[in-house]
Amino acid sequence: EYNVPVAVKNAVFSKVPTEPLKGKLHLVCASDEALSDIFDLDPKVSESEDFINFVAGIYAPEGTMSVSHRYGGYQFGFWADQLGDGRAHILGEYVNSKGESWQPQLKGSGETPYSRFGDGRAVLRSSIREMVASEACYYLGIPTTRAGALVVSDDHKVWRDKTYSGMSRQERAAVVLRVAPAWYRIGSFEILQKRNEPKLAKTLADFIIKHHFPNIDLNNEDRYVELYSEVAHRNLDMVATWQGIGFVHGVLNTDNISLLGLTIDYGPYGFIDHYYKHYVPNSSDDMGRYAFNRQPEIILWNLEKFAVALEPILTDSNKEKIKDVFKTLDGYLKDRILKTYLAKFGLETIQDGDVSLVNEFLQLMQETSADFTCTFRQLAEIDKEVLLNKDILGKKWSLAKISKAGGWQKWVETYRARLLKENVGNEERRTRMLKVNPLYVPRNWILQEAIADAEKNDFYKVRLLLKIFRKPYEINEEAEKLGYSAQPPSWSFGLKLSCSS
Ligand code: AMP
Ligand code: MG
Ligand code: MG
Repeated sequence: EYNVPVAVKNAVFSKVPTEPLKGKLHLVCASDEALSDIFDLDPKVSESEDFINFVAGIYAPEGTMSVSHRYGGYQFGFWADQLGDGRAHILGEYVNSKGESWQPQLKGSGETPYSRFGDGRAVLRSSIREMVASEACYYLGIPTTRAGALVVSDDHKVWRDKTYSGMSRQERAAVVLRVAPAWYRIGSFEILQKRNEPKLAKTLADFIIKHHFPNIDLNNEDRYVELYSEVAHRNLDMVATWQGIGFVHGVLNTDNISLLGLTIDYGPYGFIDHYYKHYVPNSSDDMGRYAFNRQPEIILWNLEKFAVALEPILTDSNKEKIKDVFKTLDGYLKDRILKTYLAKFGLETIQDGDVSLVNEFLQLMQETSADFTCTFRQLAEIDKEVLLNKDILGKKWSLAKISKAGGWQKWVETYRARLLKENVGNEERRTRMLKVNPLYVPRNWILQEAIADAEKNDFYKVRLLLKIFRKPYEINEEAEKLGYSAQPPSWSFGLKLSCSS
């Protein structure tokens, strides 16, 4: 009947133990800040055997209850039925000294009723990518799940990238300790709707409101409308930050859309290097469904699916109100994205002509293959008076590129006039822009190099990346030596990521 070996019924979670990572274990890295700020831990704890065994799913602190979450989802536009945590275990809830409630989760910690045809494991390369990007996005101002630590085994191996030609290879298994206030997705409700379990859907909706949306009144008969609106707006706020940083998630299926509006499930993602709007990091996304410029419309597509998933628990009046909310989302998102970009140019108001000011700049970047991150950063670094000075532009590699575009002079003149209209001087403009235009982002080539070292148990670069991305807006000497804000190496051009992880 279903696509799965284990079709779970009438449940939101399955109680299931972790399967220990076997063999000799290494701590690859830890986020000192996540451990101390979220779990009140002394970061030194990460070096202890107990901690490594905890992350490896071997040792569980008292009070732990390990569960896997049941959810479904639309994958690449098609209903994929039951998915669920096929290799992840939520370990419970920790209320920290600030009164915040956090759910630690292991990813790569063994088989669950939701594993389908997978082995319940994660490999080192994708675990490093998840670990580094989660923490980097947090410091880049992108709403995201966090990552606390990463452990790898020397001996525990799994098969990946099997092909028909018989090519396949073994890779070392790893586990990431991820953290979020909760792990619900649009797919959490979709599975209940598709399997006709409305009573459970209602219980879940009220539970989520009670624990994660305290501003919504549980006695209000429009509470699910409010829940819908909150989830929608949080996700739109999130996607606006992605567009501003040049982040492409890669797999925006409904099972990967968090109800808390957090970036979740880092897989074949990419941060844009040389700009083109149709950038697709995921090598299996042939149609470019999840391309950079399509992320806004795809989030709306997913939110439409969320409304459908809620239908069984809605009154007719609720449904009408959700339709009305939905109609406003596109405008809200466009406005958020425009504001995000204007901030990147040092502008705080919205004025006539701003949409074309932004679009023309992006167009110039695309025509000249200018670098998304560095062009904005270099624009921030120099005064508006010298934006046409060839000698000065020549010292800024990415601005030098964009300034070769035919329309550069005209754009600069428009931009200068626009700055005058808002009356923002050079000093103020620079201060504003340096806060929102990062110097460093986890580019795929940078991660590739750190991964190559880590495969040889040299974890220096992975740890360095965590340090650098903790302050992505500040110059870091080591990052400069390694060329992290320089023109990406030619071998990295067109780098794509496989979904296999
Ligand atoms: P993703 O596309 O990474 O969001 O994963 C889609 C679904 O596949 C989720 O239900 C995952 O838990 C599951 N999955 C991915 N890799 C594995 C694996 N190695 N073992 C078991 N389940 C997996
Ligand atoms: Mg997923
Ligand atoms: Mg994934």
